[in-house]
Amino acid sequence: MSMNLVTLLYLIASVCFIQALKGLSHPTTSIRGNVFGMTGMTIAVLTTAALIAKLAGSPLSLSWVLLGLLVGGSAGAIMAQRVEMTKMPELVAFMHSMIGLAAVFIAVAAVAEPGALLHGLAKGDPIPTGNRLELFLGAAIGAITFSGSVIAFGKLSGKSKFRLFQGAPVQFSGQHLLNLVLGLATVGLGLAFMATESWSAFFAMLALAFVLGVLIIIPIGGADMPVVVSMLNSYSGWAAAGIGFSLNNAMLIIAGSLVGSSGAILSYIMCKAMNRSFINVILGGFGGDTATAAAGDQVQRSVKSGSADDAAFILGNAETVVIVPGYGLAVARAQHAVKELAEKLTEKGITVKYAIHPVAGRMPGHMNVLLAEAEVPYDQVFEMEDINGEFGQTDVAIILGANDVVNPAALQKGSPIYGMPILEAYKAKTVIVNKRSMAAGYAGLDNELFYMDKTMMVFGDAKKVVEEMVKAVE
Ligand code: NDP
Repeated sequence: MSMNLVTLLYLIASVCFIQALKGLSHPTTSIRGNVFGMTGMTIAVLTTAALIAKLAGSPLSLSWVLLGLLVGGSAGAIMAQRVEMTKMPELVAFMHSMIGLAAVFIAVAAVAEPGALLHGLAKGDPIPTGNRLELFLGAAIGAITFSGSVIAFGKLSGKSKFRLFQGAPVQFSGQHLLNLVLGLATVGLGLAFMATESWSAFFAMLALAFVLGVLIIIPIGGADMPVVVSMLNSYSGWAAAGIGFSLNNAMLIIAGSLVGSSGAILSYIMCKAMNRSFINVILGGFGGDTATAAAGDQVQRSVKSGSADDAAFILGNAETVVIVPGYGLAVARAQHAVKELAEKLTEKGITVKYAIHPVAGRMPGHMNVLLAEAEVPYDQVFEMEDINGEFGQTDVAIILGANDVVNPAALQKGSPIYGMPILEAYKAKTVIVNKRSMAAGYAGLDNELFYMDKTMMVFGDAKKVVEEMVKAVE
């Protein structure tokens, strides 16, 4: 295989990745986008394997690569098949951590054996300064991505008792100063590596970058986690692009930059959706202390509750209904039942719409994916800015497993989620809320909406409750 053919195939793979991103920008074209992504990745992997076969000194070297592909590919396929929809964000965080670690390993290998990995170098040649800069940046960003993603994984799964892996922010005095000092020290050591090619400077820089990744993510928690996920997504792309420069691999540079820039754009969109400044989130712990306190201070208050039959009666007598899905709907896998409920109401002449908050669920676009899986017609699904103006004229807002995204605490100064735009379900004439208990949402806050006179709580698992409603709607 000639190098010209390799370059051409890498170019085709890169074009496929660009088409993949384009396709993923809308639900109707997302399947096509995925097909492009898979095609691009297949071309990239096969081309790389063929290139290694050509360059490998012995068949043994290629066998190691094929073994790696087999083990990694099988593990990925099994995990992707088994993962539940609600565990997707953890899987994404895990993938980001693996990309970061891969960047670190490649950088270490390139520093150890520059002649074998860096373009145009023979055995024993010193690493040119430009390559040292690329290796320093790729390794540092990779290390930060790895340890930061491990912490994000823990925070998203929320299962571990280990304090750093819990959703609540971890803050201590002098945290920002410590981060600044460590950040400057990492850059200083990277520059020292550039100047001297010293192994010790390189490894000390790596160690600090791993610590920095942990320290950057631990103060972020609660409702700010969506930004962390998209930010780590972006970092993993830049780490890959940095390593692409070192390896002189155009495809890695293009694919890494695509991931890096689309992750950065997503972070910006998430920040806008949360009405947060990016710097504020990155500096961490925005309102974290208050969030923990608010959850702790929760007192028992009475709410109005009813059965699924009561809710069905109210829904059946409405003219307009807005369904607000949230994370609990995904947990209960109630999307098919909800679609059935909406269809029954529509048959009765009731106008039904779905309202989607950009950070509802646990990953960007979570609710869109969930509703698309149940084949809910796209023209019934409305984004927050398009539907908020309609809640005032809506007869019934039915909230299914959502909490933070409809919490009016976001309107109160001093609240940890103050300023975050919410779905204004509290403006509807009647509000029905389904959840299993009075437990707080992801941000750990009590929700005033549940105590309003016009609100009826229907307790129970979303799937069971909605199925009962479907049966009860006449
Ligand atoms: P929340 O996590 O705020 O609330 C979900 C509610 O669902 C809970 O109050 C829970 O109450 C209820 N619930 C859980 N299981 C069930 C079930 N089986 N049946 C019925 N109800 C159930 O979800 P929202 O979607 O409102 O908000 C998302 C939150 O997650 C935001 O704070 C967001 O910032 C954060 N986040 C979002 C990410 C993203 O990218 N979208 C990523 C990371 C975090 P109960 O236990 O009483 O049933």
